[in-house]
Amino acid sequence: MFNLILFGPPGSGKGTQSIKLAEKYMLKHVSTGDILRSEVKNQTVLGIKAQAIMNTGELVPDELLIEILHAVMENNKNAKGFIFDGFPRTIVQAKALDQLLVKMQVSINNVISLEVEDDEVVNRLLKRAEIEGRKDDNTETINNRLTVYKSQTCPLLEYYDKQKKLYRIDGIGTIDSIFKSICSKLD
Ligand code: AMP
Repeated sequence: MFNLILFGPPGSGKGTQSIKLAEKYMLKHVSTGDILRSEVKNQTVLGIKAQAIMNTGELVPDELLIEILHAVMENNKNAKGFIFDGFPRTIVQAKALDQLLVKMQVSINNVISLEVEDDEVVNRLLKRAEIEGRKDDNTETINNRLTVYKSQTCPLLEYYDKQKKLYRIDGIGTIDSIFKSICSKLD
């Protein structure tokens, strides 16, 4: 099994790159943001709990994410590996993921961090708001999502760096040039 995590602030392009990587390396793409948005759309119990939190840009509680993680792993037992996009976002989530992978006798192989500066991600997300109309792509929520990323998720980079699994990739450039940079590290 080959398991990969993609980190990056909102708007860094991790969703786009994850889809391409999943296709190339035949991995199951797990975007917790997409899963949560679908739960909200279907107004499930989980979706109703998550909705208001997502609209502010804060993180949905760890226990709900761990519940999602368990369901994903349970439903994809034959996967060749996973690419985690937007998960883990806290140390508690990273440890829960490690524990689950240990049980499966596998681990995280590599971690990619897409590095993009604040001004650039704000511009990208405001453009995306015009196209996709995502509720959390407004200036106030974007700023909060960036703050939350720095305070709660960035410490995880150190966690994986200590394990010698982390590659930092410049997230500025064309989709294809960034994809090539990631693949050259993984290959
Ligand atoms: P994303 O599409 O990854 O930017 O996620 C959109 C929103 O979903 C985030 O701002 C959070 O409110 C929530 N979310 C997604 N993934 C997680 C996670 N791993 N932990 C907590 N909240 C999450």
